[in-house]
Amino acid sequence: MSTITTIFSDVGGVILTNGWDRNARRTGAETFGLDWEEFQDRHDLAGQEFEIGTITLDSYLARTIFYRHRDFTPDQFKEFIFAQSQPFPETLAIMGRLARSGRYLMSTLNNEELELNNYRIERFELRKYFTMFLSSCFLHMRKPDEVIYRTALAIVQRHPEECLFIDDRRLNVEAASSLGIRTILHESPEQLLNDLAAQGIELAA
Ligand SMILES: [Mg+2]
Repeated sequence: MSTITTIFSDVGGVILTNGWDRNARRTGAETFGLDWEEFQDRHDLAGQEFEIGTITLDSYLARTIFYRHRDFTPDQFKEFIFAQSQPFPETLAIMGRLARSGRYLMSTLNNEELELNNYRIERFELRKYFTMFLSSCFLHMRKPDEVIYRTALAIVQRHPEECLFIDDRRLNVEAASSLGIRTILHESPEQLLNDLAAQGIELAA
């Protein structure tokens, strides 16, 4: 088994809550009195572009919510979106131990919208854990498409077998695995620690 030199980690559902997923959107619809079906239909048509960074948050909100008069402002809605992001301290602590070991190139490999991604990096000081941010909004491609994993490998110039990818979605993990990248399906901090040990990964104290 070759030595792991690189760790790619998902963000939403692993170290932070999801940024703007279906549950958050549903809460948003309830909080702001939006028609759920209508909002969903519009989200379905704009969400993918939003995630790969080809439309801005303002355009997304204009297309999905502010196409007609509302009794609230885009800034109020943005504030709500940002407030949905919360940390998972136990998994963040594990990432901190991996980073402090100094043994691994630490990168995210995450699907996220541009403004939200930047907010989360800043708010939760993710630069303390990662030196690279391979995010869908920067790369204009997203998981589980094979091209994003190939691009990640090309950017870091590592062989797949020396890379470990951590994600909470089985489909994303399967896509990485099919390219020969080693993987951990994240379920809990305890299981993550066990799986890291099983992969021979060393953590700082
Ligand atoms: Mg996730």
